[in-house]
Amino acid sequence: MQEWRRHIHQFPETGFEVEDTAKFVVEKLQSFGFETHSNFGKTGVVGILKKGDSDQAIGLRADLDALHVKELNQFDHCSKHEGKMHACGHDGHTTMLLGAAKELSETNFDGTVYLIFQPNEEHGLGALAMIHDGLFEKFKMKAVYGMHNMPGMPAGQIAMNAGAVMAGEDNFTITIKGRGGHASQPHHHIDPVPISAEIALAMQTIVSRNIDPSERAVVSITEIETDGTVNVIPSNITLKGDCRNFNEAVSLEIETAMQRLSHNICAAHGAECELIYDRVFPPTVNSKQESGFAEQAANATVGPDQVNPNCEALTISEDFANMLKVKAGCYVFIGNGEDSEGGCMLHNPHYDFNDAILTTGCQYWVNLVTQQLSV
Ligand SMILES: [Zn+2]
Ligand SMILES: [Zn+2]
Repeated sequence: MQEWRRHIHQFPETGFEVEDTAKFVVEKLQSFGFETHSNFGKTGVVGILKKGDSDQAIGLRADLDALHVKELNQFDHCSKHEGKMHACGHDGHTTMLLGAAKELSETNFDGTVYLIFQPNEEHGLGALAMIHDGLFEKFKMKAVYGMHNMPGMPAGQIAMNAGAVMAGEDNFTITIKGRGGHASQPHHHIDPVPISAEIALAMQTIVSRNIDPSERAVVSITEIETDGTVNVIPSNITLKGDCRNFNEAVSLEIETAMQRLSHNICAAHGAECELIYDRVFPPTVNSKQESGFAEQAANATVGPDQVNPNCEALTISEDFANMLKVKAGCYVFIGNGEDSEGGCMLHNPHYDFNDAILTTGCQYWVNLVTQQLSV
């Protein structure tokens, strides 16, 4: 598995352009006796293995894509694709699922296992592409499971919770349309600068004054851009930003409050306002029963002492959320290690997947299958 993982690490591909990685996966799956479906969701792969005569079936999912990050590691298996890097550990996720494929081909179980290798996780597009291609209609599975490595969490520990485990992400752009002109004659213009400042401050009340305190949410303005210059009052100001939530109703409340504040503050000053609010990722919400199944498989893999079944939800987001919106399932975290042994954070140019956890993740998948599709 280490050899496969380091091979994938050396040749990272991004977005939907994961053809070579998908080909590598297909070759391996076929050599283990899996039926394979390629170009599913553009460049995704589904591998199928059926044993016995039960019609029980589950899906296990890994992600194939890397990031546009220039790798700063120095080791031999460094990225050979300039400007691209497996900085999120999807090389490890793909390898652990391939390891499970080999193990499952030699293991007795009763039912069908679908191995789902999705492209374009990082931009939140691959899961939907596979769903639109009929992932859950063509391949009837009862539940779908996913896993992500987590730097800073001790190697081999497994964590999950029976509910929202990662946040939904929304992005917004507010355009304030005033009327600019000479900086010495503000009385002739509609200056969008104080208006943007008022909106930026008012938006601090969205979470603190509009959202139920038992919920959690984040509203961040991350960019402010004007078309003015040092002696010219601008005509237009654009505010951009990012919101996180753990519940789609909260996402709707944030958008409503943002519309109200920005339009009314602009109107109060005679300016016009345009708000574009995009939902990029829904929150990742595990179903209760399947979280219990995941915990059971984790217990069998690393022992209950190393399993945290009530982990804190994280404010990062994950494309697997789109699968959990339409199918019951559970997303778990596997510790990638601490400090110099796997502790470097995801999306960092110094990150590397910790090969020491490959067998743990692989064994978790195998245990999940043999427990759910027991003979
Ligand atoms: Zn990532
Ligand atoms: Zn990732």
